[in-house]
Amino acid sequence: MQTHIELEEAVELITASLSPLGTELLPRLEALGCTLAQDLPAPMDQPPFDRSPLDGYALRSADLVGASREHPVVLPVVEIVYAGGVPSRPLAAGEAMRIMTGAMLPIGCDCVLQHERTNNGMEQVEIYAPLSPHQNYCDRGEDYRAGTVLLPAGMVLDAAAIGVLASAGICQVPVHRRPVVGILSTGDEVVPPETHPLPPGKIYGSNQDLLTARLRELGIREVRCVLSPDEPQAVADTMAELLNTCDILLTTGGVSAGDKDIFHEALPLLGVERVFWKVNLKPGTPVMYSLKDGKPILSLSGNPFAAAATFELLARPLLAALTGEAHFALTSLTAVTEDGFPKASPGRRFLRGVYRRGRVALTGKNSSGLLASLVGCNCLVDLPAGSPPVEAGQTVRILLL
Ligand code: AMP
Ligand code: MG
Repeated sequence: MQTHIELEEAVELITASLSPLGTELLPRLEALGCTLAQDLPAPMDQPPFDRSPLDGYALRSADLVGASREHPVVLPVVEIVYAGGVPSRPLAAGEAMRIMTGAMLPIGCDCVLQHERTNNGMEQVEIYAPLSPHQNYCDRGEDYRAGTVLLPAGMVLDAAAIGVLASAGICQVPVHRRPVVGILSTGDEVVPPETHPLPPGKIYGSNQDLLTARLRELGIREVRCVLSPDEPQAVADTMAELLNTCDILLTTGGVSAGDKDIFHEALPLLGVERVFWKVNLKPGTPVMYSLKDGKPILSLSGNPFAAAATFELLARPLLAALTGEAHFALTSLTAVTEDGFPKASPGRRFLRGVYRRGRVALTGKNSSGLLASLVGCNCLVDLPAGSPPVEAGQTVRILLL
């Protein structure tokens, strides 16, 4: 097991042994936010037939030459075509068909006149304006054509893409499979937030909800959460159980070097390969990484900000490797600080920040046990080891969350 390693080495150790989980077919709406695993060809022309873009009359432009209010062209109305219907016959020269928006155009028609430019007649119609060929005419396949790439591999499916899939009658969508995540939150002091009143000496566990919610924000919906007391065998048994149904395990608490930091005992009971313990960064130094039959187990400190920060720094690249979806990895930028930070950073330190248009505000309270000042943060400020106190106006590197 390696120890006291740099963040970049930890990321390398995590990602080195992982490969993408593969692909799966999801029902169309469940694929929202997922990454398309292959080019999807259009199975049909859209629209599937030539159609009218408005309510009016299907006509032949050659019949309308010179039409005006003073000198209308008068044509017999031979049929009414509604949306969803099919014209019973072609439109012949010298005829009009009354037609509604979205209705199939008859063969022989080459333009459509809006009813406002006619007398709106039912038996026969007075046409008050000429049209050029193809005016107000929607072609079959003008949105997309059968066989062309409808949506490209690698795109993240947004609402419009889901609509496009529906328009093409596609029900199952091949996407990169995302992991089922188990979360085990440990601590004798930690009780579920549903426990009322709060017993003396206890705290409400927040890490399990914080991480579950964060995973959901990132598009990972299958999350199984368990709380456990600081008892090595119970922790090992619960981990084994979660690993039966999960692709990854995240744990919080119990990874430092105190009497009740039970992961040092629980992990050998579970029989894992321990990869590293302790990364040179604050908060969350004692983070631990292990593999159980190739499945990753990332054990984070119980301090909420430490758990949140090390989740972003280590679990995000882990998720990128496990899904093959690059957007899970963090993006790095530089920004100008709006505030100072009074402490020097002998070791690498991450602060909470709010980034906006090239500038980053710090939120004040940075202790790893404090959670409230994480609300609204959208980045981590990365202060290298050996940094002096930060002054307002300084340029810093940030990681967007
Ligand atoms: P540990 O990592 O077990 O040493 O815990 C560090 C700190 O985090 C302690 O103050 C714990 O009470 C707190 N803590 C542990 N687990 C949780 C949790 N699920 N939610 C909130 N705080 C926690
Ligand atoms: Mg503890």
